[in-house]
Amino acid sequence: EQDGKVVEYLLKVLVVGDLGVGKTSIIQRYVNGLFDREYKATIGVDFAYKLIPISKDKVVRLQLWDIAGQERYGNMTRVYYREAFGAMIVFDLSRPNTLDSVRKWKADIDAKVRLPDAKQTPIPVILLANKCDMVKNSINPAQLDAFCKENSIVKWFETSAKENINVEESCTHLVKTILEIE
Ligand code: GDP
Ligand code: MG
Repeated sequence: EQDGKVVEYLLKVLVVGDLGVGKTSIIQRYVNGLFDREYKATIGVDFAYKLIPISKDKVVRLQLWDIAGQERYGNMTRVYYREAFGAMIVFDLSRPNTLDSVRKWKADIDAKVRLPDAKQTPIPVILLANKCDMVKNSINPAQLDAFCKENSIVKWFETSAKENINVEESCTHLVKTILEIE
């Protein structure tokens, strides 16, 4: 822009998954560069923002929606999902049963939010296999590839909020995927 104005786009992204999988830790790591062993589980919805420069005159204000206290139901209200453009579903590699819940979360997302296009396309979702610092060789890449394909998930990443592995990469991948759609 000649007048030097920067246009800001607000992008709402959901972070869901079972209790204790590391949702808040991933958000804190990504947004603040920090890892804390204890995050208080406030009841309700929390927001965190990250500014992502896209070009000289464009910046994305990524709005990450964290949840607390409602994870055990495996579903959220439509209000929570409204106008989201993407989602991350997190599971805990040290608790394999948290992967089973991913299907439930994906179905809930698809049932309650769609992109504002004519085709009502489901929003892009990525899968975070978190706490990879805790387990050795527990990932079967072919199996996770198949899982993603089966559940229409864009891509999976093994992450560690603790050791700062793939947190930035996965978030950036989701944002890029969203921006390509628009
Ligand atoms: P949430 O309920 O999904 O928001 O999970 P939290 O972010 O509160 O994390 C639950 C517990 O797992 C906390 O004790 C975190 O310190 C721990 N945790 C989160 N991410 C990681 C990780 O990548 N590695 C390890 N070792 N622990 C983690
Ligand atoms: Mg939390």
